[in-house]
Amino acid sequence: MADRIYLSPPHRTGEELAFLQQALETNYLAPVGPDLDAFEAEVGHCMGLPLGPRRLVALNSGAAALHLALLLAGVQAGDVVLCPDFAFIASAAPVVQLGARVCAVDAEYATWNMDPDLAEAALIRLQREGRPARALLVVHGYGRPARMDRFLELARRYGLVLIEDAAESLAATVLGQHTGTLGDFGALSFNGNKLITTSGGGMLCCARSEDAERALALATMARDPGPFYTHSFLGYSYRLSNLLAALGRAQLAALPARLAQKARVLEGYRQRLAGVEGVSFLPEPDPAWGTSNHWLTCILFDEPGSARGHARREAVRLALEREHIEARVLWTPLHRQPALPGLAQAGLVEGGAVADDLFARGLALPSGTTLTEADQDRVCDILVAAARG
Ligand SMILES: *Cc1c(COP(=O)(O)O)cnc(C)c1O
Repeated sequence: MADRIYLSPPHRTGEELAFLQQALETNYLAPVGPDLDAFEAEVGHCMGLPLGPRRLVALNSGAAALHLALLLAGVQAGDVVLCPDFAFIASAAPVVQLGARVCAVDAEYATWNMDPDLAEAALIRLQREGRPARALLVVHGYGRPARMDRFLELARRYGLVLIEDAAESLAATVLGQHTGTLGDFGALSFNGNKLITTSGGGMLCCARSEDAERALALATMARDPGPFYTHSFLGYSYRLSNLLAALGRAQLAALPARLAQKARVLEGYRQRLAGVEGVSFLPEPDPAWGTSNHWLTCILFDEPGSARGHARREAVRLALEREHIEARVLWTPLHRQPALPGLAQAGLVEGGAVADDLFARGLALPSGTTLTEADQDRVCDILVAAARG
């Protein structure tokens, strides 16, 4: 039987062991150490951040980065935060866990990310209802940048804290900057299925160094300066360990190669599926405006609202599954999440038809950077046969 093909498995560079060995031999099993500082500095360099006061804090997950961003944004119980309806639940979960409320804003077909016109409609409506939103949480889904020009303007005009969930979009750019560096806060993830991994980790990027210093304190139990175990506020244990940062340094060196490989995976699917009727891809940004990191190659079957598109998607998904190929449906819209009941009744859903449609007709294809040409042939042979029906 052929080997299982995974959606986006980790990809070793071969340098990991040397980095880990160095950290171990110098006894930096401690929670802090030189690799942690170096990893932050190298990520900062990669993202084009200027040297100087701290902007980045390495953390043990992307979810932790989002939690700290929301805390530093001052989001409190009862506040409303605009979130994309069509995104992984990790973006919205910390909002709800803080006791705040999510307002789910539908996607647009052009980017599959939050629709800025619907976001504005929601902001106006919430203001009129006497519950103005406090923060805007934008996700760059599947590594494809969201409409940051519009969201920066909306955040300014409506006095919102702007948080970018760049967990899937490391090294993707928009308006000449790396995603995660445009808003007040940006969250990165180094989970095993992302472009590079620390086997589990994340990073918070702050526009202001005061926020980054406060994030660092919050991530390390927030002990007051001085010799005593005295705490003026309560913190968390969210810091990335030095050992995992060492792993991250080895992985980060391969980021340019990973970007090229992800782009090649997409191109390989485009070529192989060019002749298949009714298959379209997540639209690419105009390169003068932004660049995707092509985290996952995603396709849609048939036209918006098409029942045939849903049926073909299911046929393809199941055919691939039978052949031990991991393809995944796209995100379940927030407004359909059992964990978030009553959003619509509370007037906290803006639109939703596009997210429903992407959910019904979309499929994420195996997009690992270790995917071979032969793997891709195998995936596409099965896909094409099943899509014909
Ligand atoms: C992966 C991911 C996260 C969470 O990152 P972890 O490091 O797994 O906690 C958050 N948001 C989005 C959009 C993600 O894809």
